[in-house]
Amino acid sequence: MQILSDINTAFELEEQQPQIAFLPIGATEQHSRHLPLATDTILANQLSRTILEQLDWPGSVFLLPTLPVSSSEENTGYRGTISFTPLTMRSIIRDIWDSLSQSGIQKLIVCPWHGGNFILKPIIRELNCEKQLCHLFYLNPWEQVPQSVYEQFAHGFEVHCGDVETSLMLALCPEHVKEERVDNPTPHFKAPLQDMWSMKTLSSGEGHTGHPTQATAAKGEVFKQAVIEHSVRYLQELLELSQQYPTY
Ligand SMILES: [Zn+2]
Repeated sequence: MQILSDINTAFELEEQQPQIAFLPIGATEQHSRHLPLATDTILANQLSRTILEQLDWPGSVFLLPTLPVSSSEENTGYRGTISFTPLTMRSIIRDIWDSLSQSGIQKLIVCPWHGGNFILKPIIRELNCEKQLCHLFYLNPWEQVPQSVYEQFAHGFEVHCGDVETSLMLALCPEHVKEERVDNPTPHFKAPLQDMWSMKTLSSGEGHTGHPTQATAAKGEVFKQAVIEHSVRYLQELLELSQQYPTY
């Protein structure tokens, strides 16, 4: 499928008439001692286009610039974290969708590469219900990866900057992974605990969980292939379903 982006002109978009837009969402938030604040934005920039390139769908897609800040309340308490409140995120998605739909875009795929954006699902439901049309879609790439892939890592899915995320960064941009990798001796915890406590509290101040020292580029490469393949498959399924069920 042909990909248009913000380096195209408005007139090129007018000519190609993309019906679908894709919004990658990153974050500016603490990623412990070894990964940059922009980690989720880097992942969004490097992987979103590849997902769209592999999609088998007629016409063109408008790949929006990655949103570099989103809802990172669980990672506040560190210098460098910038967070929108959930209600700000709700307004941002509404405003982006209003702008796109006014210019003829019919579908928006919202793709968070940062997991803390819990408001996205309710706002997508709200907007689809409001117009009684299925025009917004939710694609969380982390959720598409099968459990068997996570099992190759130290603790399965380590919530933040652990074996999985560090391996993926080693595969994509090793120059941004710093040497100061330490395993966190704090007992491993599951993501839902972040509904009640901050990452700072849960990780004894280290800002990460699990075993980043066990991360390798080879494991990251396996994860990268899986996250692309399964995100493409799911997106394909969603778009096909939207032909079958165009209304809400
Ligand atoms: Zn991250």
